[in-house]
Formats: sequence, structure tokens, C-alpha cells
Amino acid sequence: MRHTPEREMLLEKVCAFHQPFTAEQLCTVSRELHISTGTVYNALSLFVLAGILHVNKREYGQVASEYQLMIPRRSYTQLICTKCGRVAEFHDKALERLIQTRKYSNFTLRNYGLNVYGECKVCRRSKTSRKKEQA
Ligand SMILES: [Zn+2]
Repeated sequence: MRHTPEREMLLEKVCAFHQPFTAEQLCTVSRELHISTGTVYNALSLFVLAGILHVNKREYGQVASEYQLMIPRRSYTQLICTKCGRVAEFHDKALERLIQTRKYSNFTLRNYGLNVYGECKVCRRSKTSRKKEQA
């Protein structure tokens, strides 16, 4: 892969995300760098090919695909709404302890990322109010 200043700046931005992000979010934070949208999308494809990023292709609704570093820089547990894409980090001490103290044969755990998918309060509420309107 050819090394360009734009790609290096984008990689820095990518590493600054602490949770999965969309191409749109990367475009927003890259605006100050005066990097074109096309360059951002090209770099994302290259980072995926190079094994730096993993892409979570979404099959539900209109939610955009999300990118995340192949190796999370720190462990995280988060809730992801499959309707609107809202991401909320949560802390569950018992769950975190369980994962961190778990022994795997021929494998040493460094850190982990846990995504829990479902429907957020806002989306659940709008679905309930739509049902009431129809009734
Ligand atoms: Zn939602």
C-alpha cells in the first residue's frame, strides 16, 4: 500500500475512535484536514484490505456499515441499536470480570470488544406510539 500523508492523517483519526464508527463520522472529523470524501472512502477500503479495520455490514434497516479497529485499543462492552445505529457503552463489572479471568487453551486474551445488539428506548417508544396511533 502506498504511503500518503492523507492516509496517515486518516489512520490517526481512525485510531482516535474508541468505538465502531461510520464512514460519515470519519468524513465529519476529517473535514478540518481538507480531505475529500472520495479519499476517505478509498482509505477505508484500503484499511479493510490491509486488515487494520473490520467492517460490520448491517443487514437491518437503513443503518450504515460501521468500521472498527481489528484489535480494540482497550476492552469495551456496548449496546448497539439495530434500528437507528445508536451506540452506548455500558459497564457490567461481573461480565467484565468473567471475560478477563476466563482461560482459553493456546490463547492469551489481550483485550476484547463486546457488542450487544437490540432496540434502543427511543426506537422502542416510537414503535409503541405508532401502534397506538393505528389502534
Ligand atoms: Zn434506536
